Parts: sequence; structure tokens; C-alpha cells
Amino acid sequence: MEKIDEIMEIANYCLNCKTKPCQNGCPLGNNIPEFIKCVKEDKLEEAFNVLQETTVLSSICGRICPHSKQCEGNCVRGIKGKPVDIGLLESFVGDANKDKNINLKENLVSNKKVAIIGGGPSGLTAAAFLARSGCNVTIYEKEEKLGGILNYGIPDFRLDKKVINNTIEKIVDLGINVKNGYILGENLNLENLKKEYDAIYLAFGANNSCFMDVEGKDLENVYGANELLKYNEHPDYSGKDVAIIGGGNVAIDIARTVKRLNAKSVNIIYRREEKQMPAEPKEINDAKNEGVNFIHKANLVKIIGNNRVEKIELIKTELVKKEGETREYPVNIENSNYQINMDYVIMAIGSKINKKLAIENGLELNEKGYVKVDENYNTNIEGVFAGGDLIGGKCTVAWASKAGREAAKSIIKYLQF
Ligand SMILES: Cc1cc2nc3c(=O)[nH]c(=O)nc-3n(C[C@H](O)[C@H](O)[C@H](O)COP(=O)(O)OP(=O)(O)OC[C@H]3O[C@@H](n4cnc5c(N)ncnc54)[C@H](O)[C@@H]3O)c2cc1C
Repeated sequence: MEKIDEIMEIANYCLNCKTKPCQNGCPLGNNIPEFIKCVKEDKLEEAFNVLQETTVLSSICGRICPHSKQCEGNCVRGIKGKPVDIGLLESFVGDANKDKNINLKENLVSNKKVAIIGGGPSGLTAAAFLARSGCNVTIYEKEEKLGGILNYGIPDFRLDKKVINNTIEKIVDLGINVKNGYILGENLNLENLKKEYDAIYLAFGANNSCFMDVEGKDLENVYGANELLKYNEHPDYSGKDVAIIGGGNVAIDIARTVKRLNAKSVNIIYRREEKQMPAEPKEINDAKNEGVNFIHKANLVKIIGNNRVEKIELIKTELVKKEGETREYPVNIENSNYQINMDYVIMAIGSKINKKLAIENGLELNEKGYVKVDENYNTNIEGVFAGGDLIGGKCTVAWASKAGREAAKSIIKYLQF
């Protein structure tokens, strides 16, 4: 079947529900029934314009959002059968309009200067919405390229760099100044930026791996997944057994990457059952098909070795409901410990922010250790806003992008006074 016929078939399967549950499930609130209606009528540019109201990342989100937990998870078609493949439709519309510029909107706040620290999905989205409203925007980015985890994290086999770079180019073409190699805490500080800019948006993410505090965590060959994926610099896994601890996107991405680098065995170790894994079912299936092993209901208790990893000790878990709660919690089963030979252990149990950097710049943190903001993305410092993974919550591209868009709206209001 031709791609366009497949797209039309999917679009026509959409019921265009009046209540729009899919839109409610989308962190960005994209008007999904409306853009799909345009696709049905073969009006792809109009479909793109509908999406542009709320997002500048269609080609990306269409590919990598956890759709089953967002729009598609709320699709009425999904109650009795398969939901509409909204992700595929969104990326199709984004790709079909890849040469079209992002629309400029009204000039609400000309002559105002805004600095953005961090050019990941959140910083890029804020930049686009601010530039569309007439602000003079500068992104300061630590790395050589913009994109954040899109470029320095998510592997190519899941997200083509061409798609990322095309999206970034279109955003930058709105007239955004980009300064690469600028690092807050090194050659940039908030005090000086405040003198030069009318407002600042902090979006420097949370891309430092968390480590389990177990015996042996400091042995050689224990790594953090985020750091390995960031620069794609890996040790030699060939012929080796690798344990990945965790059950989210990052665990799956690192497992599939290590598998491609010729490890003898790649073993994902997760405390709960498969259906509770935060990773998308599609990614889990792809990993299985590629030969990744899954050890469910097991917890890492110890890493064993002289200098470097030789074995790991696991304990079996059972899932228990706490009184009054529907969620099940993993509880270790006493005396069910067992050991397996392993050469590498990679932690993929979550990410944290650079707290030292935040505190040194005078930012208050919340109880979970992220930068504290109010409902309008204001930090404790006047004129300084923050969003994306840096403020915690649901750390996905769409949520980070929503924070960027909403913070941009707050900044515009702030600048209008
Ligand atoms: C391996 C991996 C796979 C993932 N897969 C998915 C997925 O499939 N779907 C999904 O929705 N989400 C996924 N996520 C989560 C998603 O990538 C993040 O939620 C999202 O990128 C957060 O965007 P952000 O802009 O807040 O931060 P980032 O993307 O982390 O961007 C922060 C930017 O700030 C820059 N920076 C950092 N420190 C400084 C500094 N001191 N000065 C200046 N610049 C700085 C960084 O270089 C970076 O460009 C994944 C995450 C990882 C790690």
C-alpha cells in the first residue's frame, strides 16, 4: 500500500469525537481531531497550521512520544480495538511540511530581550513561541549542537538526526540567536545575564544518571546510562554480559544500543512486571525481538568483584498493594537472593539535575531536588523562569515542550507590564 493510502486509511478510522479525549491526553493539548479532519480532506498545510498553534515539534513528537500513555491511550477507538495511530499522522503532517516556515504571530513584545539557557526541547519550544511574539531571543547552549537529549541521548535507530536537525533549523530561522559552547556555571552566570536581558528561561535539563546506593556501585565497569548515551562513547562490550537496571525509555535505549555493540548478553533487570514498565510497549517488543533479555521482579542488592564487576546479586520481589491504593509496590522476598555472572552494570533508574549549579546561581529547589517554580514557571528570582526536566514532573519531550510554551506565555505577560 502507498504511504498516502495508509495515512488516509488511518485518518478515516478517526471518529473526530466532539469530546476530544485524545486532545485531553496530549500534554501539549494539540487539536488532534481537527488536524486529522484536515488530513482526511487532503489539506496537509492546514493540518500543519492546526498543529502549529500548540507545538513546534510535530515530526519529533509524532515519532517518540509515549503515545499509548498520552493521546492514543485516550482514543475512543482504543476501548474496543486499536486506537488511531495519531503519532504516525502527526509525524506525517510534520514531514510533509518540512520545508514550510513556522508561522509568525503578532508582535506583542518587540525590543525585549530574552535569554534561554539550554537548547533542548523545552528551550527550543520557548524560543519559538517567544520569537513568534516578537521577542529578541538568544539560546545559550553548552554543546556544539542544539536539541538536548534529542541529539545527545535518544539513539539514531529511534530518531533520525535529519528529522531533529530540520526541526531545529526551522525554529532557529525564526530569527533566534544561538550561542553554542556557553555553559552556565563556567563562562556564563545568571547575575550578568540578568543585567543584559529582560527575562531568562532556564531549561538546562536533568541528564545526570541516578545510581543505586548498593555495595559495589563504585567498581570499575559500573556506568550511568545517560552519560553513555549522551556522547555515544562506550566501553568494549563484545563477548561480555551486561546488566541494565531500570524499566523506562532510557533502560530500553541503552539495552538496544549495547546489543548493537556486540555484547554476549544484555539483561534488563526490573523490580516489577512487564506491564508496569514505564517504557512504551513498542520499544519493549523491539528490544525483545533484538534479543534483549528481561529479568522481571528482581532487585539489585550487590555488585561483586575485585576492582571490576564480576557478578551481581539479585533478590526476587513480589508485588504488594498498600491499603487504600491501587498501585502495587515491589517488596523483596526474604532469602530469595541469587547471583549471576556479569561484566558490566549500567544504571538507568532515573536522572537528576545539576543541583550544585542551581544552588550556586541562587535558585531554590523543591522537595524532590528540582528547580522550584510556581504555576507560571517563575523561579524564586524575579524575571527568571524555568521548565522542562529541570523542574521535574513527567520527564518527556511533550511535557518539556509544554513547559517551554507555557513559560513563554508567562514571560510575554511579564514583559508587557
Ligand atoms: C535516553 C533517553 C531516551 C528518552 N526517550 C524519550 C522518548 O522516547 N520520548 C519522550 O517523550 N521522552 C524521552 N526522553 C525524555 C526527554 O528526552 C526529556 O524529557 C527531554 O529531552 C527534556 O527536555 P529539556 O529541554 O528539559 O532538557 P534536555 O533535553 O536535557 O536539554 C537541556 C539542554 O541544556 C543544555 N545544558 C545543560 N547544562 C547546561 C549549562 N550549564 N549551560 C548551558 N546549557 C546547558 C544541554 O546541553 C541540553 O541541550 C528520553 C530521555 C533519555 C535520556
